[in-house]
Amino acid sequence: MRFDASEEVTMNPYLPYSAVIDDIFVETEDGNLKTFRIVLENEEDRRNWTHRPGQFAMLSIAGKGEIPIGIASSPTEKGHLLFTVNRAGVVTTALHKMNVGDPIGVRGPLGNGFPVDSELKGKNIVIIAGGFAFTTLRATLIYMLEHRGDYENITVIYGARTPGMLLYKDELKQWQERDDLNVYITVDREAPGWDGLVGFVPTIAGQVKPSPENAAALICGPPIMIKFTMPPLEEVGWRNDQVYLSLENRMKCAIGICGHCNVGPVYVCKDGPVFTRAEVQRLPVEF
Ligand SMILES: Cc1cc2nc3c(=O)[nH]c(=O)nc-3n(C[C@H](O)[C@H](O)[C@H](O)COP(=O)(O)OP(=O)(O)OC[C@H]3O[C@@H](n4cnc5c(N)ncnc54)[C@H](O)[C@@H]3O)c2cc1C
Repeated sequence: MRFDASEEVTMNPYLPYSAVIDDIFVETEDGNLKTFRIVLENEEDRRNWTHRPGQFAMLSIAGKGEIPIGIASSPTEKGHLLFTVNRAGVVTTALHKMNVGDPIGVRGPLGNGFPVDSELKGKNIVIIAGGFAFTTLRATLIYMLEHRGDYENITVIYGARTPGMLLYKDELKQWQERDDLNVYITVDREAPGWDGLVGFVPTIAGQVKPSPENAAALICGPPIMIKFTMPPLEEVGWRNDQVYLSLENRMKCAIGICGHCNVGPVYVCKDGPVFTRAEVQRLPVEF
């Protein structure tokens, strides 16, 4: 529980919810990406939890530290939260060693998220993702499918190095079978047993040529992928204010106080992590 309402305490924004790991799914063939299903311990906290796709939480492990991780579940998936975590260093390695039933702290939801209930409504949506950056876009897609009537055409272009490195494989198959979604899944190189698309995400985006008319693109992936995805989009008329990106600056407090993540006047933790490409280009440092 985040704070004891029976005592007259001021809510402390640094205090995490107590939570427990409820299930763990190994996502990729190398075992370095796992999805953790996490349940807040207090029933009222669980009921009251709400977030917007694209927001993140700070996950804390006693004795190890606290890290920002995007929320991979949609707010329409009630009762638990999903986080897909790449094993990178101290805290993520500790998390990867944890088991079902182990305790974990969750501070959030944090940041702004994608404007799914405002700017994106009534638009043609193009989701473009590379590697494990698909996580908050999964949350966004699930949310949009739950509110399918609020959006026009939805196109998903998602790629990974190999078939075994794709996330959410069962869901990808289900999405490919739907007739209200255009789904393009690609891998970098030919692979045994793979009869899907082959090629880098920017190449596939160039072949799909999504129309910019009444449209918004949500792009998450390594900076190099984003860099090379823009020219084919620009070629067919996309403007920077139609393109939403999610930034991953280092952050500590995650509530716009400590200044670890700020770029000029902008706090990535509080004002972001989602920005339009036009907003990113106005920042003093180039991303
Ligand atoms: C808003 C936001 C959302 C994120 N969402 C996810 C997610 O959904 N899944 C996920 O796996 N990761 C996500 N990350 C990145 C994640 O926070 C870092 O990988 C994590 O903090 C590393 O912690 P560590 O203690 O394991 O690594 P450390 O021991 O601190 O560092 C290990 C390596 O990771 C690098 N690293 C540390 N922090 C970051 C960072 N913020 N960005 C890039 N490289 C970093 C270090 O340079 C070093 O090379 C997100 C980051 C942000 C800011």
